[in-house]
Amino acid sequence: MTSQAVGIEYDARIRRAEKLIAEKSPASEILSFYKRIASFQKTLAMQIADANRQQLLQTNSGAEQRPRDTPQFGSVRDALDLALVLPQFRSFLSLVEQNAPNRLAAAARGIAALPSESWTALLTSYWENAGRFDQQISAFAQFFPRAFLQPYASYVAGRKAVPPVLVTLRVCPLCGGRPYLGVLRVEGDGGKRWMVCSFCEHEWDFRRLLCPTCGEEDEKKLPVYVAEQIPHIRVEACETCKFFMRTIDMTKDGYAVPPVDDLAAIPLSLWAHEHGFSRLQPNLLGC
Ligand SMILES: [Zn+2]
Ligand SMILES: [Zn+2]
Repeated sequence: MTSQAVGIEYDARIRRAEKLIAEKSPASEILSFYKRIASFQKTLAMQIADANRQQLLQTNSGAEQRPRDTPQFGSVRDALDLALVLPQFRSFLSLVEQNAPNRLAAAARGIAALPSESWTALLTSYWENAGRFDQQISAFAQFFPRAFLQPYASYVAGRKAVPPVLVTLRVCPLCGGRPYLGVLRVEGDGGKRWMVCSFCEHEWDFRRLLCPTCGEEDEKKLPVYVAEQIPHIRVEACETCKFFMRTIDMTKDGYAVPPVDDLAAIPLSLWAHEHGFSRLQPNLLGC
């Protein structure tokens, strides 16, 4: 993956956030903050892609061939080279300090004052455990390592070979992380459902009628709620485990960009909470 290809992905997210803000989304404030985060992530992702390319060129130097970048099997979790991104962590913290709401800005100041060994511990522990054992960790506590490492995890996932899977997996085949979002994409006459990993953003296919949290498959226990004002976003709840998954329905709006449209779906969170459903994994900004 070239750095340009990586950049295009983030540009699409930034443009979508701008469009939703222009349409007076009730989540405009969140989306404006997200736009700054996404711009930072874009720069970081492009640096990671460039550094990887340099490494491949060095490995293959002397040979006439183009750098080889064949997908390898293995877990995303095995690939962390913190030295590659750690120098950028301070500027990430300043960005948050300058643009986030008070409590998050204060947390950024607090982390900036810690010695770099604490940063290493924070980032390493997130990388090892994110999406697996962190149900007790609040979205607030996860925000810094998650927003900072997401481009890295996503880049690594994009270069992994996907193992053949014969059953429907409830965790990501590339890292074992839980999904935080569903996506319906056009396939044949209908839509095919995918899960998006909360750690590495890999998407894997998933059955339409199946709770990703507890495995419930009885249609009567899987109510779906769609609000009139945002028809392309579904809340897929489960009466058995009381968790819900939000799903972006691309068959209804082909211009949606899942991670961004998810941030804009605040009214649906309110509905789910009122009905006693919780989200298995929150999105980046905890909404
Ligand atoms: Zn994953
Ligand atoms: Zn369930």
